[in-house]
Amino acid sequence: MRLSIYRYNPDADAKPYMQNYEIQPQPGDRMLLDILERIRAIDDSLAYRRSCREGICGSDGMNINGRNGLACTTRISEVKEPVVLRPLPSFPAIRDLVVDLSRFFRQYHSVHPYVVDPAPTRPEKERLQTPEQREEINGLYECILCACCSSQCPSYWWNPEKFLGPAALIQACRFIVDSRDKATEARLDQLNDVNKLFRRRVIMNCANVCPKGLNPAAAIERIRQAMLKASL
Ligand code: SF4
Repeated sequence: MRLSIYRYNPDADAKPYMQNYEIQPQPGDRMLLDILERIRAIDDSLAYRRSCREGICGSDGMNINGRNGLACTTRISEVKEPVVLRPLPSFPAIRDLVVDLSRFFRQYHSVHPYVVDPAPTRPEKERLQTPEQREEINGLYECILCACCSSQCPSYWWNPEKFLGPAALIQACRFIVDSRDKATEARLDQLNDVNKLFRRRVIMNCANVCPKGLNPAAAIERIRQAMLKASL
């Protein structure tokens, strides 16, 4: 298998370059991550993130032949060669395929991604939901924060500091629609900002690249609808 991989070590390289590799997949190799592991076995200078290798941790998001995805869920039988691997666009590259996600997680934390209930008394056991209420968060809670959507979103490229990006907004929606959360009004007020939410253009890159099959664009629309309803 032929690959061309973005390489940059700020301690050693004057500028980034693409390095070619040729790797013979072994029986049992199914995913792109398997091939990256084989490369690292012969060249341990190559840096990338990985953890679960099951599409759950979201660590190995990268740009694969121009499209963001997870190396661990990308089948080698389905990628065109040479496979061109680059770090996620719009985030500063730290080294090789590793990007700095500080801004991404700052934006995630800014939407208060947890149930807020200021009531002074806590329920004795868990906070119950009806099946219908629980249904509301399907298609939202599954986000693994891989950053593939935000990184592939042109609105985010142009306004990375102001527009919160699809990933933070799908998380915001997840708590806005959660029946256990009591901060809906404050959440909507916080997002009612021309930059944070309304910078979005309907290009749908986010939904097209999400490895979990989620639709952040639809979540953003739900937030807008909730704002509209709240204003009536
Ligand atoms: Fe990744 Fe999908 Fe979550 Fe975006 S919405 S961060 S692409 S899992």
